[in-house]
Amino acid sequence: MNVVLLGPPGAGKGTQAVRLAAHFGLAHVATGDLFRQNLREGTPLGLEARRYMDQGLLVPDSVTVAMVEARIDQPDAQAGFVLDGFPRNLAQAEALDRMLAGRHRRLDRVLALVVDREALIRRLTGRWICPSCQATYHVEFNPPRIPGVCDRCGTGLVQRADDSLETVTKRLAVYEEETAPLVAFYRHREILTEVDGMGAVNDVTARLVGVLGG
Ligand code: ADP
Ligand code: ADP
Ligand code: ZN
Repeated sequence: MNVVLLGPPGAGKGTQAVRLAAHFGLAHVATGDLFRQNLREGTPLGLEARRYMDQGLLVPDSVTVAMVEARIDQPDAQAGFVLDGFPRNLAQAEALDRMLAGRHRRLDRVLALVVDREALIRRLTGRWICPSCQATYHVEFNPPRIPGVCDRCGTGLVQRADDSLETVTKRLAVYEEETAPLVAFYRHREILTEVDGMGAVNDVTARLVGVLGG
């Protein structure tokens, strides 16, 4: 099964993708995490991506598409994947179609998380992440057991530089302009399901699992 999780920044894509991947035995492929990992390792890809991420802009398609293509060829993604943060515009959606067709694979479902703008801003400005294992927390809605420390691996938590109010506002505008048109694109293909992303994390997971039939 190959699934895309679509939705604005802060909708809960990362939080839910981890759970869906575990439930269905799929690889979690998160382009933002891959860029941040490259950035920490100081690779040329990471340094290139940073210039865009810091401003809340999309990293160029050529760089992003090549990175995703390499990732879905990894052994753990052969049984299927949950794509989180990709595609983010029409050119990327078309590139995804081409790369899947070339591998005799297809996209089974696109799940679009629907969350109101006020909640998105509260979620993003209170988000803390583990720089080591990528686990995501929220200071109020999903706090770690020990403040500032990752439950899973004990690493100190950090806030993302791009979760400042100013960059969040820019990212939401970029979403509306470039990514939101994908909802209509996948609806037309009849593989889109919109899912209410408001409410408790567990309730949202149950809705998504229900749509995927498991
Ligand atoms: P995305 O990957 O779509 O940007 P995240 O999964 O990182 O979203 O979630 C953004 C923030 O909101 C995180 O701090 C996360 O802990 C929190 N969060 C996720 N789902 C919910 C929810 N259902 N209710 C409240 N907060 C949530
Ligand atoms: P969020 O979880 O808040 O939606 P991500 O972690 O997915 O954010 O992405 C963070 C940043 O990484 C984006 O603002 C963008 O600069 C870059 N990025 C991630 N995915 C893509 C993509 N598919 N295309 C271009 N840039 C991307
Ligand atoms: Zn951790």
